[in-house]
Amino acid sequence: MSNKYVYYFGNGKAEGRAEMKELLGGKGANLAEMTNLGIPVPPGFTISTEACDQYYKNNLSHSDEVKKQVTDNLERLEKEMGKKLGDADDPLLVSVRSGAAVSMPGMMDTVLNLGLNAKAVEGIAKNTGNVRFAWDAYRRFIQMFGDVVMGVPHHDFEKALNGVKDEKGVENDIDLDADDLKKVVEAYMKVYEKHVGKGFPQDPIEQLWAAIDAVFSSWNNERAIKYRQINKIGDLLGTAVNVQSMVFGNWSETSGTGVCFSRDPSTGEKYFYGEYLMNAQGEDVVAGIRTPQPLSSLEDTNPEVYKQLVDVKDRLEAHYKDMQDMEFTIQEGKLFLLQTRNGKRTGKAAVKIAVDLVSEGLIDKETAVTRVTADQLDQLLHPMISPKVKKTLKAMAKGLEASPGAAVGKVVFTAEDAEKWTEKGEKVVLVRNETSPEDIGGMHVSEGILTATGGMTSHAAVVARGMGTPCVAGCKAIVIDEKAKQFTVEGKVFKEGDVITLDGSDGEVYEGAVELEKPEIQGELDTLLGWADEIRHGAKREGVAEGFFVRANADLPEDARKAVEFGAEGIGLTRTEHMFFDEAKLGPFRRMIVADSLEERKEALKPILELQTEDFKGIFKAMDGKPVTVRLLDPPLHEFVPHTEAEVRALAKELGKDEEKLIKRVEGLKELNPMLGHRGCRLGITYPEVYDMQVEAIMSAAAQVAKEGVDVRPEIMIPLVGTYKELELLRANAEKVIQSVLEKTGSKVEYMIGTMIEIPRAALTSDQIAPHADFYSFGTNDLTQMTFGYSRDDVGTFVPEYIEKKILKEDPFQSLDTEGVGQLVKMGVEKGRSVKPDLKTGICGEHGGDPASIAFCYGAGLNYVSCSPYRVPIARLAAAQAVVAAGK
Ligand code: PEP
Ligand code: MG
Repeated sequence: MSNKYVYYFGNGKAEGRAEMKELLGGKGANLAEMTNLGIPVPPGFTISTEACDQYYKNNLSHSDEVKKQVTDNLERLEKEMGKKLGDADDPLLVSVRSGAAVSMPGMMDTVLNLGLNAKAVEGIAKNTGNVRFAWDAYRRFIQMFGDVVMGVPHHDFEKALNGVKDEKGVENDIDLDADDLKKVVEAYMKVYEKHVGKGFPQDPIEQLWAAIDAVFSSWNNERAIKYRQINKIGDLLGTAVNVQSMVFGNWSETSGTGVCFSRDPSTGEKYFYGEYLMNAQGEDVVAGIRTPQPLSSLEDTNPEVYKQLVDVKDRLEAHYKDMQDMEFTIQEGKLFLLQTRNGKRTGKAAVKIAVDLVSEGLIDKETAVTRVTADQLDQLLHPMISPKVKKTLKAMAKGLEASPGAAVGKVVFTAEDAEKWTEKGEKVVLVRNETSPEDIGGMHVSEGILTATGGMTSHAAVVARGMGTPCVAGCKAIVIDEKAKQFTVEGKVFKEGDVITLDGSDGEVYEGAVELEKPEIQGELDTLLGWADEIRHGAKREGVAEGFFVRANADLPEDARKAVEFGAEGIGLTRTEHMFFDEAKLGPFRRMIVADSLEERKEALKPILELQTEDFKGIFKAMDGKPVTVRLLDPPLHEFVPHTEAEVRALAKELGKDEEKLIKRVEGLKELNPMLGHRGCRLGITYPEVYDMQVEAIMSAAAQVAKEGVDVRPEIMIPLVGTYKELELLRANAEKVIQSVLEKTGSKVEYMIGTMIEIPRAALTSDQIAPHADFYSFGTNDLTQMTFGYSRDDVGTFVPEYIEKKILKEDPFQSLDTEGVGQLVKMGVEKGRSVKPDLKTGICGEHGGDPASIAFCYGAGLNYVSCSPYRVPIARLAAAQAVVAAGK
């Protein structure tokens, strides 16, 4: 750790830079950067995240070094401003704001107008000549300090304020004059004293340290912790604190405050988008209490400031080469920037902005593919209402299109209920007047969010966009009665549990469930994924064939077609057992399983051969020119026979078999540990006729479609191999069948025979296995199961608690355990290639669709990843990102 804990910015120069986010937080680093760029920023200083870390380590106290540096920098600030904190004539006022390395909107604390006391309020009044303003600032400060720093209930302040308003017989704050506000201050002082047990602190230095402590402490408040959990933000030291001289948007009619984005954060359109309020302070815009004006109207009312703002926006976007989200304040016609950051955006906007920035020459294609996260892309693959259906619908209400995508769910009115209902398996839409940071958990689990008040930058809108949750905000037509748990639209009542549909793309709300559909890949998304493909195809790694490819796991012809539509470059896994669950095949397959003799078994396999051949033909046709890995039967046989006695008796009747004998036979198939039992290649060895039939079906299908002109590339995969002997034997069996099919049909089909590496022993002895395999596919589902010794079907009982207790970082069945299981993957590849340098390797476990695991696979030298068809676009992007990251 360095000895420098406090970084000054002001007078056109700053000690920090944009790159110092870890240390200064995003806000602090960018305030420094803007200062250095010569953009008007009120001067101040940033207390680093290291000081926060130290504060926690020192039992919630500051070191002498930190105290000294804060004092020195405060002096420097006072000097620059020519004002002193607490001064009776012309006092300095500061804001104290949090700001971590990763933005956590609304999760931590802020205090404004700090430095006001009984003397300073007079000073402000004198200096500004605006007594009302001074007392309004003071009462706001007491309220915010009381609420944020000392935990005084917000509600009690509201009550005191309303008391004064009632006394005067007015409704709005604006109707209170200076004398009224003095009364409010008096009432607030009483509220403060009642809750805190002592008077409101008059010493500004005491105020400052209390506020700094509150900001540091807010790093570990419940909602901040939850936010970090949801967004997987770990390994940060803490928050920084920004102490900055105040500028006032509520100074006068020519003052104001607003937020703006250099491009539309919902759609990505290149137009200057924002909202502002004149004569308002700080959080008024975000809080959704007053309805803000669109930025375009500032151009009419204050063209000079608007021009300056446009200029600042252009400079910041060109400098950061990304869409900026800015906060500004106008004080008496003078513009100040209080924040800039790369703006949060929807998936749709992320893709459009990335592609547009390339065509504007600001970034290259490699950078563009890193600008869209897997989660953002996922949003675009989420359901929407098709334009056709849309035409037939009539919306019951319309609000703002705050976060795109459509959602159907049962109405709930509190975040808590949203969590409770979803735990029971319900899909819910959270309906509230406005959300607040405490609602974050409930918002996360909801399908969609509907609010009655608030604008596009309200809490609900900002958070929903970040989460990719559809949201309609500010839907004024709905009147919510939270107590009765119902809302009304034009007299019609909707109760908790009633189903509604909302479309966050145009703000419409519908009664009942509307049918949703998956969107297609087109336009900018197609362009971006095309670049991702280019990058992947050109990937070069030492000792590995060029390129890094994406395949799909698909069991049926229609899945294969879907996979190709989404850009799959082959099939990495066809689980043939899924084909047997089809009604037509299940009967004969059961007959095969319970057969008493080899002859009977072979007889039973005959109709299946034909049916399977048809399935394979369909898949090969869909994958014309692309490799198709077909896995031979994997699961234990007892999964296919009925389990209750009555069902077994019925089966006996159907097959014309003795009931008692069949009951015994089925009983005999049962295993204590079927996952580790008679499955995979073990079945192929004990029932060779099953694998023979499957190989015959694969190759007959291949031969037939090849004759029709299809470019067919079958890869036969033998599962659950633990010793090379298994593969050696089964490969020989398969080759016999293949030769006979090829001879019979007179065709020449290129094929491969390979295996799955999903048993630790296979990875450990991969140099013995590789001579018998043309390819490997890592079955990381089983490999994880067997490496951890966790039953993959039972992890739900303990893994969530393991994650909560930080024993595990995440579920190893979702994201590959690179430290443990990953070693086996690496070893499998290395040992395999040590005897067969061109051994083709891939992954087909669920991890093949997980971005972090994909990056690992790239590093481990795998040639491809394979995942479910719907994950393919995400895998294409994540694979390209892995290539770009590795090249840096
Ligand atoms: C695996 O084990 O990773 C795999 C893909 O096979 P399955 O999930 O069918 O066992
Ligand atoms: Mg497996």
